[in-house]
Amino acid sequence: MTTTGTAVWGRAEQQDFRSRVRGCLLGGAIGDALGASVEFHSLDEIRREHGPEGLTDLVPAYGRRGAITDDTQMSLFTVDGLIRAQVRRDTGAWHPPTDVHRAYLRWAATQREWGPDERREEDGWLARQEWLYARRAPGQACLTGLGDDTMGTLAQPKNPDSKGCGAVMRSAPFGLLVGWEPQLVFQLATECAAQTHGHPTGYLAAGAFAVLIHSLAQGEPLDNAIQRALAQLSARPGHEETSTALKLALGAVRQGLPTAARVESLGEGWTAEEALAIGVYCALVAEDVRHGLLLAVNHGGDSDSTGSICGNLLGALHGETALPPGWLAELEGRATILELADDFAMEMTQGPALHGPAGSAPGWLARYPRS
Ligand SMILES: [Mg+2]
Repeated sequence: MTTTGTAVWGRAEQQDFRSRVRGCLLGGAIGDALGASVEFHSLDEIRREHGPEGLTDLVPAYGRRGAITDDTQMSLFTVDGLIRAQVRRDTGAWHPPTDVHRAYLRWAATQREWGPDERREEDGWLARQEWLYARRAPGQACLTGLGDDTMGTLAQPKNPDSKGCGAVMRSAPFGLLVGWEPQLVFQLATECAAQTHGHPTGYLAAGAFAVLIHSLAQGEPLDNAIQRALAQLSARPGHEETSTALKLALGAVRQGLPTAARVESLGEGWTAEEALAIGVYCALVAEDVRHGLLLAVNHGGDSDSTGSICGNLLGALHGETALPPGWLAELEGRATILELADDFAMEMTQGPALHGPAGSAPGWLARYPRS
């Protein structure tokens, strides 16, 4: 395969890839929804409210069971931006950070507008989904970084001191670019992270997470994926905090049975490297997706982000059929997420059949406009 995605895919390969894309996006959304109600609660508060085991099921947040938050919203716009980068390539333009930035600006509009503006055809399909126009405790750095049209870059990042988890939590989709070389995936994820988070840990953790997903989406085990992420990190200035956090997660696995206390030994997850470490640890020790996600949300920190990261990892690793069906059935926006996942898989595996110099499917360009 090449970065242009023009290689011919076999049918079994295509179906495996689609299952991992669906698993990654839906798994992340389920983890996000599971953690949504306890994002700002300590472990003691969680146990007082839900019993000694803590949270064991979806509970209402933002007025319903299964509500997703900003982590899922932004991840979906990452996917939208990546599809549009591929589609816009027909015009000779190739600068994916610009397309992802435009997608994030469309997300930012969902945080301040009442609903979609049907007159803006250039918004495309995702930004016309009314249910996405909801504020679900968005991170400050994301709001300010996308508060004007200027794009932050690695050379001139937005919020130079921010290392909150707001960039890493939305970066799984970069890893789904399975035709790309890992160093390009890492680079693109860090460039797009710097649009809101300028501290090296803020963007390097996003790059590392993308490389983890990239390995899993190609069928590698999680241990290998972690070694690949560490290898990508090692060459980057300022990587130590993120590398150390990943190594701590690996070390915690060897310390005994997983407990909430062991999760909390990795931090609270408000910062990028801690959120990544907790998500990775819970995915490493997970007996199944349900067990891993419950572990990832039952702690006194940023539960929806750590749940989302863990869900992205487990979904990419095991595919959509491993996700707990009862939780999937109640997931807010399930239809949109599934449709977007399938669109992404179609674009990456059959892009030339959808658009190109010889002609384009009008329905596709309406969903993912070139402008
Ligand atoms: Mg959130």
